[in-house]
Amino acid sequence: MIKTSYCSCKNHTETIEVYDFGMMPRVNNYSSNQEDNDRTSLVLTVCESCKLVQLSSMPDLNSIYLEYDHISSASTSNVRHLKNVAEMINNKHNDRKTLLEVGCNDGTFLRNINKNFISHGIDPAKNVYQKKSSDNFSIHNLFFDTSNQLKIRNLVGEKIDIIIGLNVFAHNSTYNDMFSAIKYLLASNGYAYIEVAYAKDTVLSGNFDTIYHEHFCNYTLTSLINILKENELMVVDVDKVPTQGGSLGIWIEHLNDNKEVSDNIDVILKEERDFGISDISMYMKLSKVIEHKIFNIKSRFLANAIHKNVLIVGVPARGVITANVCNCKTLQNAVAIDDTPEKQGYNIPGTNIPIENPEEVNYKNFDIACILAWTYKDDLIKRIKKAGFDGDIFIPFPDGKYI
Ligand SMILES: [Zn+2]
Repeated sequence: MIKTSYCSCKNHTETIEVYDFGMMPRVNNYSSNQEDNDRTSLVLTVCESCKLVQLSSMPDLNSIYLEYDHISSASTSNVRHLKNVAEMINNKHNDRKTLLEVGCNDGTFLRNINKNFISHGIDPAKNVYQKKSSDNFSIHNLFFDTSNQLKIRNLVGEKIDIIIGLNVFAHNSTYNDMFSAIKYLLASNGYAYIEVAYAKDTVLSGNFDTIYHEHFCNYTLTSLINILKENELMVVDVDKVPTQGGSLGIWIEHLNDNKEVSDNIDVILKEERDFGISDISMYMKLSKVIEHKIFNIKSRFLANAIHKNVLIVGVPARGVITANVCNCKTLQNAVAIDDTPEKQGYNIPGTNIPIENPEEVNYKNFDIACILAWTYKDDLIKRIKKAGFDGDIFIPFPDGKYI
């Protein structure tokens, strides 16, 4: 057990090391094709006080987010999900509301929000959003934090009724400050809806591919409630969402002890207690679970595929971690495919595996496929089979199996 850094929670507790993944490349760094260039240590820790599973350190936010290679609309499954969330919000309101999406990326979610909303997006990346004539929202290139909160209020309005953050509140070591900005900006009767990967279903079950440098926090409901309370906010409802290999959808309002909250909260908190979320020994056993998953992928896939023609399907951030932790650079004849044009022509970061356009690959040339983007496996398997792939298909998570 090695104590590494300090948690930024109220008690400012030292965190405890859970697993050290070693030096890993940045998952969205496509600017360099050098295998071993630009690696940073990736160490998973947990705070004994608030129970937040987090990294021991994170690269400078500017270097990650001012120019960003993840594009929301690049995945059809993600577009479908963002549309469903927008519909859920649309269906809750008949009156005119002011809505702000944090980390709005290319505007895929905002395009699906009803036109009677006053909609704004905020995102530090200038390279992702291309305005369309039909867009009825504004996008501001800023970080969402307390240093910009006054500026955001001036741009968006005094009273923000709804704040949305889909897979953004786990992506910063400044998460506490971001929740504090919600506290400042949210109207007194407003709410925030955020989605975050659920640590219990992902990393705490050994599915380590959600651990990468820009995924600083791995929330449970227990840890989120602790952090929100520090910022005088509270969870009023929670849903399990089947994205990212397991996520939570969290409804947040201003803290008020007399507020009625959903029974879902107690149900999930009980599941977490039974799982051992509050018991530090559970986190200590996790390293064995992670090691076992790595061993499975290496022995079942890598050993079998090493001399074969390998098709790596999808190169999401999580896939870059799997490829590096499991040493996929030892594969001798591997090609990856990904729909994101910004990734094509480069290698999977940290490896020498080239990424190609899925439309330009001869699927009959491959003996074995590995679905690194396994959370979209159903769509991807259908697609490669339709395109002529006829070999074995390995799914690395949750159990590391061929189908
Ligand atoms: Zn803490």
